[in-house]
Amino acid sequence: IQVKEIKKVFRTEEVETWAISNISLNVNVGEFVAIMGPSGCGKSTLLNILGLIDTPSGGTYLLDGKDVSSLKENDRIDLRKGVIGFVFQSFNLIDELTVEENIELPLLYMGIGKRERKERVQKAMERMNIAHRSRHFPAQLSGGQQQRVAIARAVISNPKLILADEPTGNLDSKNGEEVMQLLSELHKEGTTIVMVTHSQHDAGYANRIVKLFDGHVVSELEM
Ligand code: ADP
Ligand code: ADP
Repeated sequence: IQVKEIKKVFRTEEVETWAISNISLNVNVGEFVAIMGPSGCGKSTLLNILGLIDTPSGGTYLLDGKDVSSLKENDRIDLRKGVIGFVFQSFNLIDELTVEENIELPLLYMGIGKRERKERVQKAMERMNIAHRSRHFPAQLSGGQQQRVAIARAVISNPKLILADEPTGNLDSKNGEEVMQLLSELHKEGTTIVMVTHSQHDAGYANRIVKLFDGHVVSELEM
């Protein structure tokens, strides 16, 4: 990830908000970077831009050497597939789908055949210790179980990059710890991770902490 002087402005009829005033940031392959800072400083906006969910209003973003700053939505969706996995604070599972169906979704989008899908989903469920709940719906699961399903869905396509937005924000300390252990394992296997967090403890799993304030970087700490 090579981000150079990106900006993001949100305009409504009355106000314009500079969610990101100026951020430059490089993340190398295999790094685990934590993004911290007070509410409203632009963390989620930055993560959305890194994850090709949103585009910057200015500046450049090179992903894997390719300029992705101003790609159209369809190209961004194509590029995300199988490359970037997302984990959110509120899990973002689909209520009407079972655990196994939720986890299977990215593979469906990638056009992978049924047999391989079933095998990979089974493996992911076992790894995330959720296989005993395969036919349950999200509302029947505890918060920790839901986040393990969300992580299984994020990693099912073997993404090179995982973007996590306060992944333990809605979890108690035991479940939060489990989620951080899983992310840490993925990092050790070579996955690049960028995680937004308010937790100093969770940030301790990262090898670099980037602090934002009012839409720009105020400090970077290597660990
Ligand atoms: P954080 O994740 O650090 O809490 P955000 O990136 O969510 O911060 O938001 C940064 C600023 O941009 C905030 O002032 C927020 O209100 C504003 N903002 C974020 N998204 C939008 C949007 N879609 N429309 C208007 N303003 C937004
Ligand atoms: P939490 O304190 O994390 O919110 P819950 O009280 O929601 O946990 O759930 C505790 C346990 O009960 C979990 O293992 C969860 O899977 C199970 N559970 C909760 N609601 C249901 C349900 N409607 N059907 C089946 N199991 C459920």
